[in-house]
Amino acid sequence: MESAKPEEPATQAATEVKAEVEDEVTPFNIAAASDSGIDYDKLVDKFGCSRMTDELREKIERLTGRAPHRFIRRNIFFCHRDLDIILNRYEQNQLFYLYTGRGPSAEALHLGHTIPFIMTRYMQEAFDVPLVIQITDDEKFMYRPELSQEQVAKMAISNIKDIIAFGFDPEKTFIFLDTEYIKELYPNVTKVQKAVTLNQIKGVFGFNDSDPVGKYAYPPIQAVPSFCNSFPHIFGSRKNVPSLIPCAIDQDPYFRMTRDVAARLKYEKTGTFYSTFFPGLEGMKGKMSSSSLHNTILLTDSAADVKKKINKYAFSGGGATEQEQREKGANLDVDMPYQYLRFFLEDDAELAQIAEDYSTGKMLTGQIKQKLIEVLSTYLKEFQERRKAITDEDVKKFMEVRKINPVPKKFEEAR
Ligand code: ATP
Repeated sequence: MESAKPEEPATQAATEVKAEVEDEVTPFNIAAASDSGIDYDKLVDKFGCSRMTDELREKIERLTGRAPHRFIRRNIFFCHRDLDIILNRYEQNQLFYLYTGRGPSAEALHLGHTIPFIMTRYMQEAFDVPLVIQITDDEKFMYRPELSQEQVAKMAISNIKDIIAFGFDPEKTFIFLDTEYIKELYPNVTKVQKAVTLNQIKGVFGFNDSDPVGKYAYPPIQAVPSFCNSFPHIFGSRKNVPSLIPCAIDQDPYFRMTRDVAARLKYEKTGTFYSTFFPGLEGMKGKMSSSSLHNTILLTDSAADVKKKINKYAFSGGGATEQEQREKGANLDVDMPYQYLRFFLEDDAELAQIAEDYSTGKMLTGQIKQKLIEVLSTYLKEFQERRKAITDEDVKKFMEVRKINPVPKKFEEAR
């Protein structure tokens, strides 16, 4: 197994990455230098993460007794910090928990936001572990000058219903709003705030002296759900349960800082599991983002919306004419219909056949677009049916501070 690279100091500026690798990857902006997208290989080395390996994929299969999720099989979740350590511990019946989050900046989620949630749901089911989901209403209020607290609060409830519709286990999942749960988080928040200097926060996140002070105060709040004693109703008095965070790699600066502080506070270091970005319709240069709506497929979109958006906006790597496509085939690396199928088509053999046919010109651009429209329309229809059934009562249940048994059934049976 590849050994972990030495970790970058938490003071490494997220913004420095731009100069070194030319791509810009920060929690605030993603911009690839090249039309073929972010150079993830360089990024792994720059951030000092560990690459995903076949050995780890096999281990996940062995520990869970099922094929790893397609995101893992296809290296969409492509790098990590300490995933190997967490899996080794799990193998010895030692618990971990999952932590992920969402900043409520829009009424509806888009397909890019589904990536960490789809992965987290799979991991919760496969490993039978508890999950905490942080809704960062404080962060979005602070970062988005145009939003009032009332607007953020309304979007948060709508987003929580979306999140529940991914199918998380109600017995093992705790969803919390920062502004509501802050009392429980605050002792750890103050420990982190005492351990991190202004210079470090400036260095890691690139803030300047005109930014509101709340921006500087926020990173510790995203850090502390990774410490198990922030959730006494789940972990009691235990201090030694590590968390694992599935998210996109843009969040790494937060968790580099968190791991650095954890070591100093004598807490378990959080593990992370990072995905590539789900690109916008117009191409590989950026991620799908709420700030560019025509570039985005929303979870509320109808089948007609999906058809229109894919036909009109999805960047094609196919030939400009039918004849050219038949002669030369498509460039899969920049073709959005193919790239989206990598994320959403379950069947590996079918995906491989499409890659072969489309790259050699046997399959036409219209045909791959049609395939994608079918796959996404089915996914969205099923999601929307589940979402319609989510009630305010469900929201209350997931957000209730209640006793949760953190121990996987498998561990209990082994006792
Ligand atoms: P947006 O810019 O669209 O509002 P965001 O990054 O602000 O997105 P958050 O709710 O703050 O959204 O992020 C929640 C999680 O979703 C993070 O792990 C983030 O990396 C991930 N995420 C957001 N967009 C994408 C994407 N296009 N592909 C993969 N992951 C994404």
